[in-house]
Amino acid sequence: MAFTLNSYPVVYRAKFGQNRWEGEYIEKKHKTPQEEAALEKAEQDALAAFRNFYDDMPLVNYTTQYGLSCFEGLKALPQKDGGLSIFRPDRNGSRFYKSMKGLYMPPFPEKDFVAACVETVKQNAQLGFRPRYKPEWEKDSFATADSIYIRPFTAAEGGIGVNISREPWVVIILSPVSSYFSGGNSDAVITDRIRATPKGTGWIKAASNYVISALAKHEAQEAGYMECIYLDAVHRKYVEEGSSCNVFFYLKSGELATPELGDTILPGITRASIIELAQDRNIKVSERKIAIDEVLSEGKECFVSGTAAGATPITSLTYQGKKVIFNDGKVGGLTAELRDTIKGIQYGTLPDTKGWMVQVL
Ligand SMILES: *Cc1c(COP(=O)(O)O)cnc(C)c1O
Repeated sequence: MAFTLNSYPVVYRAKFGQNRWEGEYIEKKHKTPQEEAALEKAEQDALAAFRNFYDDMPLVNYTTQYGLSCFEGLKALPQKDGGLSIFRPDRNGSRFYKSMKGLYMPPFPEKDFVAACVETVKQNAQLGFRPRYKPEWEKDSFATADSIYIRPFTAAEGGIGVNISREPWVVIILSPVSSYFSGGNSDAVITDRIRATPKGTGWIKAASNYVISALAKHEAQEAGYMECIYLDAVHRKYVEEGSSCNVFFYLKSGELATPELGDTILPGITRASIIELAQDRNIKVSERKIAIDEVLSEGKECFVSGTAAGATPITSLTYQGKKVIFNDGKVGGLTAELRDTIKGIQYGTLPDTKGWMVQVL
């Protein structure tokens, strides 16, 4: 189980109509988690499939036909003290609000977003659907730790003409998740595909952006890489980000550099958190344009950041057939420190001095 869809039974769903949002919690068919775990694989799959069906939502709509949708991804993490907390849901709520506005949808209020995430996690946990903290996770810096992935997204009303969505749904589902980049290598390659263009939707967590991402990532994986990194669309020179993660370079000069935000880069919450943690350590952090040539000659460590990825080291980067290995192929010191700090805050082994965690239980 790296990152597979296996929804927990309780789902939140809100619909916009008559100028307001109306939300409900839906409890889909389930047994106890223990009973479900004991089922034959085929029965488990059937149950998971059933929980993913909604017979009261239209199939032909602006999302399925034209990719008009946005989403979020955040996590609820089992805490060392036995509790369950969500990492910075307010940030995801405000980004979701901006994404929806960017797609000319009626935006879903940030406050309602946070409340619905908390309540959906809580209701599922009360039915027993929640991971429990395991001290053995501490041994490998939480690389194999479990958490709950929270996926809020929009779904459009029925329609066939190219149009904006005026009365979308907002749905929040939960799915258990363990480490995202499951084992294997951590080599990355510069793709020649273009993820986002100026004046486009790269800054929005839009479903449509992921079409190119899925193709490029597939191509990278077929060629034996874990991840692909994009260059900017105009100059084909500046590094932008990964297919679903931001990217950082620790340079020989001692500067931690990450591409500056703009309309082609997704403003990651992990990215913002890592910048803050690095600054706390008196590391010089810059958000600026970074040319691929600079990375190849000056890069000492490299990692990608995201809710799913955490801070995942990139051991090598290949560009136009030339492969550069960072830190002799080993996880770099700063990368490891930042990764361990963020994981420690998330799982409650380090104090949450910044008030990033929102307690559910
Ligand atoms: C979601 C996403 C990220 C990471 O954002 P987080 O808030 O850190 O999870 C980075 N890049 C892209 C393209 C994304 O969709």
